[in-house]
Amino acid sequence: MPGPRGRQIGLLRRDPLTQARRPIRLTADWVLPIAAPPIRDGAILIGPDGRIEAVGPGPAVPAPPDAWHHPYPNAAVLPGLVNAHTHLELTGLAGRVDQAEFSHWIRAVRELKAGLEPEWFVAAARRGVREAFAAGITFVYDTGDSGAIFAALTAEGGAGVGYQEAFGPHPDQVTQSMAALAEQIARAQGAAGPRVVVGVSPHAPYTVSAALYRAVAEWANARGLPMAVHLAESAAESAFVTEGGGPFGSAWRARAIPPLALQWPEPAARRSPVAWLDAHGVLGPTTLAIHTVQLDQADIDLLATRQVPIAHCPVSNRRHRHGDAPLAALRRSGLRVGVGTDSVISVDRLDLFAEMRAARHLAGLTAREALSMGTHDAARLLSSAPDFGTLEAGFWADLAVVDLGPPPPPRPDPEEGVLAAAPDRVVATYATGRVVYRAGPVT
Ligand SMILES: [Zn+2]
Repeated sequence: MPGPRGRQIGLLRRDPLTQARRPIRLTADWVLPIAAPPIRDGAILIGPDGRIEAVGPGPAVPAPPDAWHHPYPNAAVLPGLVNAHTHLELTGLAGRVDQAEFSHWIRAVRELKAGLEPEWFVAAARRGVREAFAAGITFVYDTGDSGAIFAALTAEGGAGVGYQEAFGPHPDQVTQSMAALAEQIARAQGAAGPRVVVGVSPHAPYTVSAALYRAVAEWANARGLPMAVHLAESAAESAFVTEGGGPFGSAWRARAIPPLALQWPEPAARRSPVAWLDAHGVLGPTTLAIHTVQLDQADIDLLATRQVPIAHCPVSNRRHRHGDAPLAALRRSGLRVGVGTDSVISVDRLDLFAEMRAARHLAGLTAREALSMGTHDAARLLSSAPDFGTLEAGFWADLAVVDLGPPPPPRPDPEEGVLAAAPDRVVATYATGRVVYRAGPVT
C-alpha cells in the first residue's frame, strides 16, 4: 500500500496554479490548528483564492465536487511554520565561517560577504526560500543587506518581512547611510509582492552609531515601516555598550571611531544594550528584538513596557556560546515571543522543530505551547491580527504536512509527534493553497 508520499505525488502532478484554480480539500489523520485542540481525521477546504474556507472534522468540512483531493494518511497538517529570524541571503554558506570569539566571527562573516557579487545573493535568497519550504517554513522575518529577499519571497510564493539592514558606526556616516537606506527601501517596495512586508534593520550596537539608530527609527516610524534589531546577543556587545570595552571597543578604537557607546544621557542612566536602544527611540511594538540573551529583570521590564516583540534563537545562542535567553521570564512578562533559526552560518540548517524543542526545554512548555512559538505566536510578532500562523477560515492556506509514521499502539499525541520531527519528515508544504514543496521523487 502506498505511503503518504506515493499517494500525494500523483495527485499533485498538475500544479493548480497553472490551470483554472479549483478548491482543494486536504484530509489527514490529524489537523493541528495550534490555536485550538488537534482534530482527529480532520479536513481543510482551501478556496480558489488561496485562503482557508473551512477546517474541522472530515464530515463537517464541505467536499465540492470539483475540488482536488489531497489525502495525507499517517500525517498531521499544521500551519506553515513561521521563522522569526533568518538571513536567507546567506544560504549556501553553512560551514564557511568557523566558530570564534563573537567579534571575530562577525568580522569573518562581513569579509566573506564582501567577496560575493550581488547576483550571488539573489540566487542564494531564492534557494533559501525553497529550503525554508522544504523545512515546512512558509513565513520568515528576514534581515539582510543585499535586498535580495524581497524579490525572492515574491517569486517563490512565500511570505514574510524583509528588514533592509543599515550600517554605520561612525557618526559622520549618518547622511550617507540614510541616503543608501532610502534608495534600498524604494527598490524593495518595487520588488515586494502583496505578501511581503518591507522593514528596516539598524544592524546592532557595534555597527550602528547612536545618531544612526535615532535617524533610522524616526525615518521608519514616519513611514510606518517595522524594524528589527540584533539586541543583547553577546557578552562582548554588553561590554562594549556599557563601558566601550571588550573586543568591539578595541575594533572601534582601531578604526578611529568615537566611543559613542559612552555617550549615555545625563544623569547617568542604567547601562545595558536594551537601555541604549531605548535611549535612542528604537524600541516599540513594531521593533523586533532578535536574541535578547543578556538581560536583567530591568531590561525585561523595559521590553515589556515598550511591548517589543522578541525573536528567540536558542540553537544559535548556544552555538555562539552566548548562553540562554531568559525565555520563561520573557513569556511571564507578557511579551510576544517567537522562535527563529538565525542564518545557516550559525546553525547549519533551518530546523524550526529543533528550535521549538529547545524553547520547550528552556521554559517548561507543553507541546502545543512550543509549536505555537513557531506558528501562532510567531505570526503575532508582526501584528496582533495576522492572517497566517493558525488554521482558521479566512486565513492564508499556508500549511505544513508532517509525516507521523506508522501508528504504534497507543497512538502518540500528534502534537508531540510533530514536535519530535525534523525537516526530513515534512511531506509537503503549501503556500496560498499551492504546493511549494513535496517530499520524495516526482513520478
Ligand atoms: Zn541574525
